[in-house]
Amino acid sequence: MVLGTASQVPTRHRNHNGYLLRWDGEGILFDPGEGTQRQMLRAGVAAHDIDRICVTHFHGDHSLGLAGVIQRINLDKVPHPVSAHYPRSGQRFFDRLRYATAYRETVALLEAPVDTDGPLVRTPGYTLEARRLSHPVEAYGYRLVEPDGRRMLPDRLAAHGIEGPDVGRIQREGSLNGVALEDVSEVRRGQRFAFVMDTRLCDGVYALAEGCDMLVIESTFLDEDEELAVDFGHLTAGQAARVAREAGVRHLVLTHFSQRYPDPEEFERQARAAGYEADLTVARDLDRVPLPKRR
Ligand SMILES: [Zn+2]
Repeated sequence: MVLGTASQVPTRHRNHNGYLLRWDGEGILFDPGEGTQRQMLRAGVAAHDIDRICVTHFHGDHSLGLAGVIQRINLDKVPHPVSAHYPRSGQRFFDRLRYATAYRETVALLEAPVDTDGPLVRTPGYTLEARRLSHPVEAYGYRLVEPDGRRMLPDRLAAHGIEGPDVGRIQREGSLNGVALEDVSEVRRGQRFAFVMDTRLCDGVYALAEGCDMLVIESTFLDEDEELAVDFGHLTAGQAARVAREAGVRHLVLTHFSQRYPDPEEFERQARAAGYEADLTVARDLDRVPLPKRR
């Protein structure tokens, strides 16, 4: 769910950043910029829907919404704990945003700052990993990787005469009467999602994007302004699209646009010109973009 798509300053049609990822019944809020609470209302996202918050870096368009969202989570007495990840070097900003004004704390907000590359959390549904990006202030991108599962193959099961409760038994036990689970099933690759904001091209960008089913990535600039992009620590549409192409991304979501460009379609044209051929969304506020179906 796209809550906002503007870099730096909101426009009449674009709010500051904000994205809610729904993943197996869990909600992960990424980079809540100013106005996120109102965008949540417009998008039908409740404070209860948020289980985890991931902030890439402490520029206002990625974090000013924390103050409002955190207070709302407490006002609504969300019944589960909420975890927050953000660069540890920005702890003072997080503290200020968390306690920007007086309110009654009712919810456990677990601070889990990031200061190194690697896995942050493992749940049954995913592993959350962070990778350092290249921006004037310390920034981390995030990636969710679902564990691989196994898909049962009905014709193979039938060939071995396995049916009814025995299907569950072989799944649990790994073999049954000399038939191995591998003989009657195949690997079902886990889904992968990455969130890459505010960075120049760097190793972290490629590592996060690798093999993703969906990549949400900034393309602040158009290709003709690549020099500006490098200076300010951003990507162009063409750069983001080339990353996605090389990484084998199945659905590319471009966002975080500079207000200098009037025509969003130009981002799509440049992404296609860069050779990216799979699904592409040039994000608009309140777009709902489904993860691609499992392979
Ligand atoms: Zn930004």
